[in-house]
Amino acid sequence: MNNQNIAYDLEDLAKWHEGSSILTPPATLSVFGDPVKHSLSPHMHNPALHNCGIDGQYVKIRVPEVKFKETLSAIYNLGFKGTNCTIPLKFAALNACDHIDSTAKRMGAVNTISFENGKVIGSNSDGPGLVRAIREEFSIDIRDLRVMILGAGGGAGRAVAIQCAMEKVERLVLVNRTKEKAEKLSHELSSDLMDESIHKDSSRLKVTEWSEEGLESEISDIDLIINASSLGMKNSDPELVSQNLLKPHHLIYDMIYSPSKTRLSRNAKSVGARTANGLSMLLHQGAISFETWFNQEAPVEVMRKGLKDAIELESN
Ligand code: NAP
Repeated sequence: MNNQNIAYDLEDLAKWHEGSSILTPPATLSVFGDPVKHSLSPHMHNPALHNCGIDGQYVKIRVPEVKFKETLSAIYNLGFKGTNCTIPLKFAALNACDHIDSTAKRMGAVNTISFENGKVIGSNSDGPGLVRAIREEFSIDIRDLRVMILGAGGGAGRAVAIQCAMEKVERLVLVNRTKEKAEKLSHELSSDLMDESIHKDSSRLKVTEWSEEGLESEISDIDLIINASSLGMKNSDPELVSQNLLKPHHLIYDMIYSPSKTRLSRNAKSVGARTANGLSMLLHQGAISFETWFNQEAPVEVMRKGLKDAIELESN
């Protein structure tokens, strides 16, 4: 049995070795989430495992937060190599690890767990995945850019902002509906981006109102605009940035990947700006997790095709 669309649970794991539950190839990796049915991760990891000749299968497991440690022990005892953790379990994952890498520590969130010599090792590939995605999409390193994050107070926005600070981007402007969250985050990041901007007239780290005036006051000193808010998936969602503020030199990275084009990206394209959607971030965070588990380069193009095929299937 090999079904990428099933979401298993702790009860299924308890009878994993019974006849009807045996998977071929055997399950050795997973994504924990609650809900988890929507996860596209199996669609990139299973083709990657197959392509690399690795005997194993990546499955989805629905894990209520209170059952996190129990489920982690269950997959360890079943011989899994590790698991990804998605919303809302990235914080529970942090507490279940024996060792956490510096990025995960900084983000306060773990999205990749590997079992090594009986220890639970946690890391976070979300921010590093974005760094690779920006390099791939725009042929430039994020550290050389002046970045504005829309939705900086959410889980994704926070991870991206911390990564930007760790990369020491040229300039970072945080925008969030609830401004206090962006201000708190800015306070956290201030020691990373303490020194003056090379652009003398603008401060290197700033919070601005999510309003026409707030955006207008900062956007001319920005190269890359990242939408990390949950707005943009629906046609009825409000315009995130007025079209008249978008300029041809802007790079727009919308973390949304379904739909592949949002109003923000369409508006940006029509003024001659370059745009990309969040598929590349999803892909590269997955590729980094794969590299963590197997200590070998991930077959990125195979993974990309798996993701694209799954999204296309979903949208038909
Ligand atoms: P989240 O934690 O729920 O954060 C939502 C963010 O959107 C917050 O900043 C929130 O502002 C803002 N927001 C929500 N409704 C709003 C509204 N009506 N007006 C203005 N701002 C609003 O969600 P998340 O997990 O960070 O995910 C955010 C987006 O990133 C989603 O679209 C998700 O699919 C995408 N994402 C993509 C990837 C990828 O790999 N491409 C990875 C992770 C997430 P407040 O703080 O004021 O509530």
